[in-house]
Amino acid sequence: MYFNHVIEAVGNTPLVKLNKVTDGIKGTVLAKIEYFNPGNSVKDRMAIRMVEDAEKAGLLKPGGTIIEGTSGNTGMGLALAAIAKGYQTIFVMSDKQSKEKQDILRAVGAQVVVCPVDVAPEDPRSYYSVAKRLSQETPNSFYPNQYDNLSNTAAHYDHTGPEIWEQTEGKITHWAAGVGTGGTICGVSKYLKEQNPDIFTLGLDTYGSVFKKYKETGIFDENEIYPYKTEGIGEDILPKNVNFDVIDQFIKVTDQDAAVMTRRLAKEEGLFVGWSCGSAVHGALEYAREHLKEGDTMVIVLPDHGTRYLGKIYNDDWMRAQGWL
Ligand code: PMP
Repeated sequence: MYFNHVIEAVGNTPLVKLNKVTDGIKGTVLAKIEYFNPGNSVKDRMAIRMVEDAEKAGLLKPGGTIIEGTSGNTGMGLALAAIAKGYQTIFVMSDKQSKEKQDILRAVGAQVVVCPVDVAPEDPRSYYSVAKRLSQETPNSFYPNQYDNLSNTAAHYDHTGPEIWEQTEGKITHWAAGVGTGGTICGVSKYLKEQNPDIFTLGLDTYGSVFKKYKETGIFDENEIYPYKTEGIGEDILPKNVNFDVIDQFIKVTDQDAAVMTRRLAKEEGLFVGWSCGSAVHGALEYAREHLKEGDTMVIVLPDHGTRYLGKIYNDDWMRAQGWL
């Protein structure tokens, strides 16, 4: 048995029980390890879906160029889909993303454009604006726009959600995920709540992001927006893929708590995962410590792999420079 292309190997990632970091917590806490995808992240799933839906809709034609603003992982998924299907790729990312992510995208044949992070989304220099402009200027191009493209949520509703439901034999009681575009948490949550409306969905947000306050007050508060370091979660916009109706509560996690927990996952669980995984686990366990009961089953998604953060949280000098070690 073999796959005709590596993109066919996306999905069906394992669930692994957390054993040490969960000390003192009642119930079972399972991690969905998305680095087993060929692009080493959860974003392979939606990248392929956005490409295939665009082909069906006639938005992406043979020989076309895919142009996207990405923190790196979506770019990797899109690059793999582009290689399989014969497209070019241009990715626009902000300069806060790790150097490894830029190098990885170039390694799979993409052109990478780096923009400053410390400008407003509507500023023409922002990575949102540059991606949009390049897609308008480049003939035969397709701009997936992962924030507002609902193929993103659909990929998780159709695949990630059913996988979790089957892997837990319907015993899941709590679902927790970091929120960036919102595709992962909302696609899975919608599917799970349709199977069992009592399943609780917890969103993990960062300090410096608008989601938690918006959920609690309905107010888009610009005072909530300030620079932070964790990559892949938190936003200064409200993406269409974030459906606040299927997220029951948000918890914010600091950059430091996230970094420290990520290193614990590597050392204590053997899970060499990315920085937002530490955010998700730290925040989810904070909730679990207070609310999880015997017999409950919590699933936390761990979105990507540790290799992307070797120069940062897995580097002792870098950690010391932050005052985090
Ligand atoms: N963690 C990482 C490392 C990511 O790249 C992303 C995607 N931005 C997320 C978490 C959040 O996933 P989503 O966009 O589906 O909300």
